[in-house]
Amino acid sequence: MIPITRPWLGAEEAAAVNEVLASGWVAQGPKVAAFEASVAAALGAGEGVATTSCTTALHLALHALGVGPGDEVVVPSLSFIATTNAPRYAGARPVFADVDLETQNITAETLERALSPATRAVIVVHQAGMPADLDAIEALCKPRGVTVVEDAACAIGSTYRGLPVGARNLVALSFHPRKLITTGEGGMLLTGDGRLARRLRRLREHGMAVSAHERHASRTVVVEAYEELGFNYRMTDLQAAIGLVQLGKLDAIVARRRALAARYSELLGDVPGLSLPADPPYGTTNYQSYVVQLDDDLPLQRDVVMQELLDRGIATRRGIMAAHLEPSCAALPAPALPVTERLTRRSLILPLFHGMDTKDVERVAEALATAVAHCAVEGPPWR
Ligand SMILES: *Cc1c(COP(=O)(O)O)cnc(C)c1O
Repeated sequence: MIPITRPWLGAEEAAAVNEVLASGWVAQGPKVAAFEASVAAALGAGEGVATTSCTTALHLALHALGVGPGDEVVVPSLSFIATTNAPRYAGARPVFADVDLETQNITAETLERALSPATRAVIVVHQAGMPADLDAIEALCKPRGVTVVEDAACAIGSTYRGLPVGARNLVALSFHPRKLITTGEGGMLLTGDGRLARRLRRLREHGMAVSAHERHASRTVVVEAYEELGFNYRMTDLQAAIGLVQLGKLDAIVARRRALAARYSELLGDVPGLSLPADPPYGTTNYQSYVVQLDDDLPLQRDVVMQELLDRGIATRRGIMAAHLEPSCAALPAPALPVTERLTRRSLILPLFHGMDTKDVERVAEALATAVAHCAVEGPPWR
């Protein structure tokens, strides 16, 4: 069986966790601070603020920006549900924008159609690791006073115009095992604004003026104040210790994924009816997911192809979900989103992870080519 993904974890991570256990300090403390500094340095961002997940990071970001009831936040429907949920947690209204067929990301054009006088912010997703074209989006947003927040859950290790994704704007990362590096669960906000970073640190720790670890380390009595309504979105030192080891592997992980993806593209390039992911002209993807689109002239059902692959011991996943089609979003107004609907129905994700070798890639590509040929002849008509 070839799984869709498998994190690259080993003895080094185990040793790092054991060291934290032996220290007696397992909650948010020195390892979290070190992980924040290391991620920020690696991505050329000002500061990092660790959280329990990318989902809570996005909520914290919007809360800190003062986004609330009456405000609109533009999001792509074509994203993991958390992108749409974050504005809802803040009491604001998510407004769906369509995406570009090739990058699966919102563009200045699709965003412009979704803007209104009530728009406070936009969450730009670098979907499946593919960088979005930030220059054009920022040029549209800045004069209108619309804040750009980046959902880079998938995009650690991707680049935009020669710099790592994460080096500009307020950016949210994820360390879920489905992403490039993992802490089990975990997230982080990146910002170049030191004052905002201090406020985010307070907000993720119950609104406390002094952190628990600072009080613990102090030689004088410290009575903490709760300066504003906060949250408990703290990462643990156990997680951060794993994250520090994982961060050291990031370059190797990106290089391996790009090599395996290149092999996929070589092998599948000649299969008629498939569109394959590739670097955009302005950046590089980390291939967090290798998403294949079935073209319109291929008369077959995506789910039938997925089942054929599963029958041959190969796990795949449907393409990126579309939030506006889910029951939990039924009450939200949805404009026409033709590209989003086409992408979510007509794409699938192939296995891709650090521990794969080129033989696995060849097996998957061969199975996909066979399934496509087979289904095109005998499969039921596609919807
Ligand atoms: C995975 C993902 C999230 C959620 O990340 P968590 O850390 O699991 O909360 C948010 N947005 C996108 C685009 C994602 O892929």
